[in-house]
Amino acid sequence: MENAVNASTAGSGGQIVVAGAGYAGLHVTLRLTAKLRDHPEVELTLVDRHDYHQAITELPRVASGTRAADAVRIPLQEMLATRVRFVQTEINGFDLAGRRLLTGAGPISWGRLVLALGSRPNDFAIPGLAERALSLYSASDAERVWAAVGKALTVAAAEADPERQRRLATVVVGGGGATGVELAGELAEILPAVAGSHGLAPDRPAVRLVEAGPTILAGSSAQLIDKAAKILSDLGVQVRTDATIAAATEDGFRLTDGQLVEGGVFVWAGGLKAPGLVADSELPTGHNGRVKVDQYLRVLDYPEIYVAGDLASVTDPGTGHVLPPLAQVALEEGETVARNLDAELRGKPLEAFTFRDKGFVVSVGTRRGVADIAGITTGGRLAHTLKDAIEWEYRQSVKHLRGWDPV
Ligand SMILES: Cc1cc2nc3c(=O)[nH]c(=O)nc-3n(C[C@H](O)[C@H](O)[C@H](O)COP(=O)(O)OP(=O)(O)OC[C@H]3O[C@@H](n4cnc5c(N)ncnc54)[C@H](O)[C@@H]3O)c2cc1C
Repeated sequence: MENAVNASTAGSGGQIVVAGAGYAGLHVTLRLTAKLRDHPEVELTLVDRHDYHQAITELPRVASGTRAADAVRIPLQEMLATRVRFVQTEINGFDLAGRRLLTGAGPISWGRLVLALGSRPNDFAIPGLAERALSLYSASDAERVWAAVGKALTVAAAEADPERQRRLATVVVGGGGATGVELAGELAEILPAVAGSHGLAPDRPAVRLVEAGPTILAGSSAQLIDKAAKILSDLGVQVRTDATIAAATEDGFRLTDGQLVEGGVFVWAGGLKAPGLVADSELPTGHNGRVKVDQYLRVLDYPEIYVAGDLASVTDPGTGHVLPPLAQVALEEGETVARNLDAELRGKPLEAFTFRDKGFVVSVGTRRGVADIAGITTGGRLAHTLKDAIEWEYRQSVKHLRGWDPV
């Protein structure tokens, strides 16, 4: 028999459930905690499969051994006030008509639901990719990448032939977006130094970055792309653009032109899509399975369900494009959702979501980076310091937001 979580309030309007404790869901929860001070009758429940929040933007550092995996797993207990009920369980589906989440801990009823389940890697059904390539979307994924790199260096060191050593000690990253660039840069900077501890000459490891489009960091300014490409080149990363992967084989990524990009470790950072349980639901979805929402971030035809973060398909009226899956966007959407839930409780009008772009910062290696902020492009140490500062500020904010309400 299923356990019914909070069966006493099943279907009641006083139950707000947030599904997902990532950037968007955690922000909604922390901001609502303060706003619900005057509404003791409202129950706030947060559901996630993990009992920690993951600082995903820091994963490239974990995947290159410069940060411990546990350092990016922030225990939710440290951030949530007692006002919030946390349920650690897997969400398996939705009973939309009955307004219930179907979970490993039993059904969880909502009066209002916030869906913030993030994304998962999209391999675009490229043959062999799921089996041959690692992904990078969780601390555990990042640990697997670093373990695979260590193993490859050890295996390479046991070979006598320098060419074979080079091939085995090469990491190939598929996808030249921010994740691919950050990972390639970190690894290229760190691998010559760690090669020695595996008994391998420092010139043996290599990093290759393969991008299907005409440029890395697509959508960024030409100056930023140029600066990032120069740093990658300086670090020895071999970048290939206009190179579409047709298949992943035992020996490497096979391109559509027949060429083989060889290596010993393969990581796929070439795309994202919505979680499977959303695709299998009756929720209205658009590009990459993201959920279609109205201007208040409520699901079309389901006004009692809000969506925030990667899962929401939100078109920027300024550009006409769907907003990219970024932590910055997730936090801003989370803020609007928290305000709108509060507005509903107070009988006030809802607020339309507007994205205020704060700029774009990408680390390239362990010391340098590139940034586009307020129309100014920088590259070098300053941009890397900026990235560190953003991550530090984020960590401070999640630890201090729980009782804070500026409005
Ligand atoms: C390697 C990497 C580097 C990045 N760097 C940057 C960067 O520098 N700057 C930037 O702005 N963005 C960056 N991003 C993008 C950013 O991380 C995402 O846009 C952001 O995490 C989206 O937040 P979210 O709340 O929608 O999802 P997430 O943060 O992924 O949170 C989703 C939550 O839902 C939970 N969940 C999912 N499914 C279930 C289920 N079935 N049951 C229970 N729980 C579930 C997960 O455990 C997770 O806690 C990066 C992404 C990656 C992969």
